[in-house]
Amino acid sequence: MPMKAVVLAPGKEKSALRKHPWLFSGAIQKVMGSPESGDSVEVYANNGTFLGIAAYSPESQIRCRFWTFKEKAEINREFFSDVLDKAIESRRSRGFDINDTKSAFRLVNAENDGIPGCIIDKYADIYCAEILATGADKFRNDIFELLAEKTHCRGILERSDSDVRLKEGLPIRKEVAYGDVPKTPVEMIENGIKFDVDVWNGHKTGYYLDQRDARFEVGRYGKGKRVLNCFSYTGGFGLFALQNGASSVTEIDVSTDALNIARSLIQKNGFDSGKVILKEADVFTYLRSCRDSRETFDLIVLDPPKFIESKAHLNKGARGYKDINLLALKLLAPNGILATFSCSGLMEMDLFQKIVADAAVDANREVQIIKRFGQPADHPVKTTFPEGQYLKGLLLEAR
Ligand code: SAH
Repeated sequence: MPMKAVVLAPGKEKSALRKHPWLFSGAIQKVMGSPESGDSVEVYANNGTFLGIAAYSPESQIRCRFWTFKEKAEINREFFSDVLDKAIESRRSRGFDINDTKSAFRLVNAENDGIPGCIIDKYADIYCAEILATGADKFRNDIFELLAEKTHCRGILERSDSDVRLKEGLPIRKEVAYGDVPKTPVEMIENGIKFDVDVWNGHKTGYYLDQRDARFEVGRYGKGKRVLNCFSYTGGFGLFALQNGASSVTEIDVSTDALNIARSLIQKNGFDSGKVILKEADVFTYLRSCRDSRETFDLIVLDPPKFIESKAHLNKGARGYKDINLLALKLLAPNGILATFSCSGLMEMDLFQKIVADAAVDANREVQIIKRFGQPADHPVKTTFPEGQYLKGLLLEAR
């Protein structure tokens, strides 16, 4: 059988030598052995130097995703068993235990944990996986069987229903991959607060685990405050503010389903629903209406969706961030707190901070940075994969 391999164009081996996990289509000179989508291929520099073994993705601009840079490796069930063991052990050592049947965390963070394009989130005794690349897709049965064996979970749901899959030539798939996954939301506990996660229909795998630390930290500023939680989803930041004694919380989102869950969570956690307003609205419009009616808040959270999908959207996205931050700063009472985030990987912290600084000048507020936020320990970033760092935030006080 012919060896499946790709040979790079001259000079295109640099990123692979630095162990970056992606190779773009333009880097490849020759494809040998007719690999099919998801097949493992050996990767060689133009001068014949072995670089690694990668998953081949003929329809994607990211043509190859490296599994390993080791020459003797084989990509098989044992390989994935080892990757999963490492993920489980690293999470355990960071305080996330797979045997805790109430907790929720990210067990596998794609490239950063050695399975490009594969995310596996744990919610209580259910795992929800999203596969976005051909290589992981090809090995998904092995991955799910091993996951079930190692975790003894109740069920695994595959939520491979993002449009990103179409770019890889992969079909949309949403199905139970193992065991039993209830149709009703899965209850889990995050830092003492109960959450219901709709793994079937919620955003992504059902919940935004990446903001766990921020919700906890920002919540601590909630005592006695009038809180405005923009882009609330199921109300997380607001619930932590209530836990800390907020005097009122307004949760704003465009998603009716998310707000319905938020409503039930207020009751489930025993908070006074009289303190909470749930508002189905566009944040841009809502902030303007507050400005026009001169309403003020003591603590505002801005946790928008990704505004910047590609480099072409950088300017427009930057304007979006400036707009909401400017409006929010204007609505803050004296010494008010703003927790502002960006989950756009293409928006780097430096630029984000500049945008916020510009907004502060335009709002005529003196603003201090109290804290910077990044990703929690279950969303690690490989040093060889800067793209893995997407989430950033600033905690600010405005005089
Ligand atoms: N802060 C949340 C996660 C926010 S995710 C948490 O801690 O769980 C971003 C949310 O923004 C989604 O729920 C989405 O429905 C909402 N959204 C997107 N565009 C919006 C807009 N223009 N106005 C209001 N909500 C919006």
